[in-house]
Amino acid sequence: GHIQALGGTDSSRAWFDRAQESLAGGISSSSRLTSTGPHPYPLYMVSGSGARIRDVDGNEYVDYLLSYGSAVLGHAHPELTEALTAVLHTGTMFGTCNTPEVELAELICDMVPGAELVRFANSGSEAVQGAVRAARGYTGRSKILKFEGHYHGWSDTLAISNRPGAPEAGPYAAPHAVPHSPGIPAGIVDDVVVCPWNDAVALRALLDAHRGELAAVICEPIVANNACTMPAPGYLDLLREECTARGIVLIFDEVCTGFRTGPGGAQALFGVVPDLAVYSKALGGGLPIAAFAGQRHVMEPLAQGHVKHGGTYNASPLCATSALVSLRHLNQPGVTKRIDESGRRLMEAIRRAAHDRRIPCSVQGVGAMFQTVFTADGTPTRQYRDLLHTDQARYHAFRHELLKRGIHTNAYGMACWFVAATVTEDDLDATCEAVTEAFGVL
Ligand code: PMP
Repeated sequence: GHIQALGGTDSSRAWFDRAQESLAGGISSSSRLTSTGPHPYPLYMVSGSGARIRDVDGNEYVDYLLSYGSAVLGHAHPELTEALTAVLHTGTMFGTCNTPEVELAELICDMVPGAELVRFANSGSEAVQGAVRAARGYTGRSKILKFEGHYHGWSDTLAISNRPGAPEAGPYAAPHAVPHSPGIPAGIVDDVVVCPWNDAVALRALLDAHRGELAAVICEPIVANNACTMPAPGYLDLLREECTARGIVLIFDEVCTGFRTGPGGAQALFGVVPDLAVYSKALGGGLPIAAFAGQRHVMEPLAQGHVKHGGTYNASPLCATSALVSLRHLNQPGVTKRIDESGRRLMEAIRRAAHDRRIPCSVQGVGAMFQTVFTADGTPTRQYRDLLHTDQARYHAFRHELLKRGIHTNAYGMACWFVAATVTEDDLDATCEAVTEAFGVL
């Protein structure tokens, strides 16, 4: 079971050189360059099985990037492959209503406490857009309150203040809304109110300042994109209470947490039911599908056809089948529990290795998704700005030492590790061993 040490990656380098000639920047998503970390080029993966993947040079890795959590059953899962192969033979899409989408919506309503009606889309960004449209349509208001550092996709609507640096981020308690990219119109930015996470006083002040203007409050209940920063005890309940009192739609972005932190996602884990929730990643088991789902009253204008939402590819039989197989699997007794236990074993191994080497860090999150954050004194992060003071160089060194030992993780310190349902004892042993060695040379 021991993973081969990382050999050469010359073929990856050659593919990246070649890609520069035809792909803008050599990549298909901006995050694939940040995901190279300190490396000058990305690795090209060509195959996978279970929790292991192989690159174009033949190096093998235990995979905790896991397609950003999408490949929740691991790669090339036999049951999923068989179901998808059957769909390939009968037609992948017709652009019409189809039966798997109905079964899938029923299953989501069954698994998720706050899901009474569902709509499908193709990516997290799109489904967030759908949820925001529904909230604006329902309330007749236009402003959205989001939290600094939380990520809700690349669309104009909310690619705002997901990664601002000082001084553009503005004062802590009332941050500026900072567009993540040129090309996002000022008028859209004006409709976004930004709040620091886990701060009740700042939240109430901003809600008061924008009384009657807010359609929705949106958050990542576990902030996957801020190194799995956890909600302070009672904070999600506070969001629920304030939104209810003020007639604001509460949206949980469960793109990362959904169906991974348990069959009912974060809302079941924390016992807080939002009006709407957004799903993708683990939902599709590796194929592009997303959903927004919520309580009947908020979804009603959409159900009536007053609020519009479309998409040629929405819930195609191929993707709906992939999701159906994945969710049925995750809904079996003990499956998400085992994911959590596997992750907790890794978290403990990292804590032990760090403790033995007297390296301060916070290993935070839950078993299914977690991150190692090199804070100065090892305390967990509470909100985005804490992350700006962590030791990124040490994170990159840690990640690189793991990579050399065949452990593949997200290179971006603000992201996190995702654990597969099919990770084996062998995979976990190899990872723990690599972690111990890595801390030995940090
Ligand atoms: N929300 C969250 C919490 C995410 O992590 C992501 C993607 N990393 C998105 C939304 C956007 O999803 P997609 O990349 O599928 O558009």
